[in-house]
Amino acid sequence: MSYQTEKEIAISAVIEAAKLCEKVRQDIPPALEKQDKSPVTVADFGSQAIICKALKEAFPDIPIVGEEDATEIRQSTSGDTIKKITDYVREIIPSATTDQVLDWIDYGNGKVTNKFWTLDPIDGTKGFLRQDQYAIALALIEDGEVKLGIMGCPALKLGTEETGFIFVAVKGEGSYKMSLTGGEWSKLQVVSQEDKTRFRFVESVEASHGDQDQQNAIAKAVGITTNSVRVDSQSKYGIVADGEAGLYLRLPNPKYPNYRENIWDHAAGSIVVEEAGGKVTDMYGKPLDFASASKMNDNRGVVVTNGLIHDTVISALSMMNSQ
Ligand code: AMP
Ligand code: MG
Repeated sequence: MSYQTEKEIAISAVIEAAKLCEKVRQDIPPALEKQDKSPVTVADFGSQAIICKALKEAFPDIPIVGEEDATEIRQSTSGDTIKKITDYVREIIPSATTDQVLDWIDYGNGKVTNKFWTLDPIDGTKGFLRQDQYAIALALIEDGEVKLGIMGCPALKLGTEETGFIFVAVKGEGSYKMSLTGGEWSKLQVVSQEDKTRFRFVESVEASHGDQDQQNAIAKAVGITTNSVRVDSQSKYGIVADGEAGLYLRLPNPKYPNYRENIWDHAAGSIVVEEAGGKVTDMYGKPLDFASASKMNDNRGVVVTNGLIHDTVISALSMMNSQ
């Protein structure tokens, strides 16, 4: 098995981070605001601290490109935020000090290089705050390719009574899910168009994160007549990988023409879908570029399918946009 050590350590770090996130959620966190006005919570920072600590100790030579950094917390004069974060981290790592927690968070400020981790400690913070879906997303990128992806989705239900799953995919070795409380791993397989009830279409809850008019028009053009399933975070990739939907569209919102997708918002999800038999590209059919920068500057939008309908979706998009 390749990447076995990386996989084991990353899985256990994501499970610990998921515990912290759910603990914070029970306490209903007040949202803080980053300088760019996007929401962030103590759980985003706590999750990044826990995962960065585990990866730093096990793989000191592999940098981490994470979403959060501790600059604004360090500047706060009251120190209330770092105290809260440290209290939550201590429930998992009892000896943690505030200085260590700040350093672990900032260890996630690594640079894109030949081999690195990319981490979104809470993808879908808006969903997290609404008590909806969110994901802890971690991926290992080497030689320009995603080699390993792990997604913790503590609030996800997948056609069962169980809540909370972890997804894992290693390049060339398939995609698997397991309940976050443990048990057996089950292999994932994308859905075929013939399975009319499961061949659905997923998109973001947040209308501003896509172009819902065009997304719905494309879904119709490829024969999906039911309403979209709207879900926050990379959980959408998990839903496609598990065959609970055949299409996930994230087309650029015309109001934000300069928006570029972040690698940590797609790296883990994309390998989970591809290893389950699906396909992931941008809206022009170009592979997503995880290897050049923390933003995918040369990609526009994201198209995720069961593979079989991928070319049809890309052609429909090309026709619609040339009219
Ligand atoms: P989702 O829950 O799938 O809507 O994705 C959440 C992610 O959307 C966040 O991590 C943000 O990085 C990202 N995001 C923020 N603004 C935009 C935008 N204008 N277009 C696409 N994604 C965005
Ligand atoms: Mg995110």
